Amino acid sequence: MFTPSGISKFRQEFGSPVVSVTGAAGFIGSHLVERLLQLGCSVIGIDDFDPWYDPTQKRRNLLDVVRNPDFELVDGALSRATAREVFSQSSIVFHLAGRPGVQDSWGEGFVESSRRNVELTQRVFETSLECDVSRVVYASSSSVYGSGATSLEVSPEPRPISPYGVSKLAGEQLAHVYRNQGLEVTNLRYFTVYGPRQRPDMAMHRMFESTKPDGPVFVRRGDGQQRREFTYVSDVVSATVAAGFVVAAADETFDVGGGSSVSLQEVMAIVENLSGAAMRTENVAAPAGDPATTVARTNKTSQILGWSPEVDLFEGLRWQCEWHRQKASSEPPLLVAD
Ligand code: NAD
Repeated sequence: MFTPSGISKFRQEFGSPVVSVTGAAGFIGSHLVERLLQLGCSVIGIDDFDPWYDPTQKRRNLLDVVRNPDFELVDGALSRATAREVFSQSSIVFHLAGRPGVQDSWGEGFVESSRRNVELTQRVFETSLECDVSRVVYASSSSVYGSGATSLEVSPEPRPISPYGVSKLAGEQLAHVYRNQGLEVTNLRYFTVYGPRQRPDMAMHRMFESTKPDGPVFVRRGDGQQRREFTYVSDVVSATVAAGFVVAAADETFDVGGGSSVSLQEVMAIVENLSGAAMRTENVAAPAGDPATTVARTNKTSQILGWSPEVDLFEGLRWQCEWHRQKASSEPPLLVAD
């Protein structure tokens, strides 16, 4: 029902609600906006086009929706005043804005991780409460587990091993605080998301770019044996929409993972196969904050959200490969709404 094929069922049950998406121009946020519009929602998207990575990519992410009459873009940082204005019109807030990225959260980077993950999330929860928002869906991360999410058999306690993981866990703790005040919050722990529009700092993005004749060298951090539960972006979007609308999801926390844990080395082989070209690589030691394995426990996610991942790794990487090809051949993008 939360996929494009469930449009009529969704509309019968929920009508055309007004919802907001923070981080709307980002990798996952822009896909979420598209899905919500397809389902018949009116969407207010907020993004400050943080130059941490090329804002042109973010503007390009919104090209398909920016002229949709049911979409409104608020182009700027999510101040308290902006949050009040937007959330007072919204029944659900999907909170994806933040500063992702483990490596840049060390050192002085933590100033921005704190500002954009912790302080911003507190602002989102408090203004949502003031504005009587029915539910906030908070985009948390598998990084809250640190090295703990190693198999389906273990039930890990959150114990981050990076400053980024701490900042995302602080968001979950804030969710708990504002639940006590009466706000409904659903936390989603996303496991390494990939697909078209993936952020340029992420491994698969860097891998595909490194197969281009004049592309950058892919710097492999560690021995390539790290295993990750990779999750295709449309599956993440389906789980996120369900977390907003399924009644029983209120105040729960869910793992959102793609269904199998695969090594980086295996992904590199698939990328080369799909691109038809060898990657240019260089090896460096594994950085701090990088767990050896991540495994998602999605039983509860399936039971309560009625969700399971639909896109397998090879198919998902094929779509991402196509996006990198088109990106290389397309004209410079039009800039949207300034
Ligand atoms: P992204 O960087 O592409 O998107 C985040 C967006 O938020 C950016 O467009 C940025 O400009 C915007 N933003 C940041 N601060 C803002 C502010 N103060 N006001 C308005 N907009 C602001 O990242 P993404 O990969 O799409 O991740 C989205 C969310 O999901 C993040 O919260 C991230 O921590 C979480 N997450 C992502 C992954 C993943 O694999 N991509 C995994 C786990 C969790």
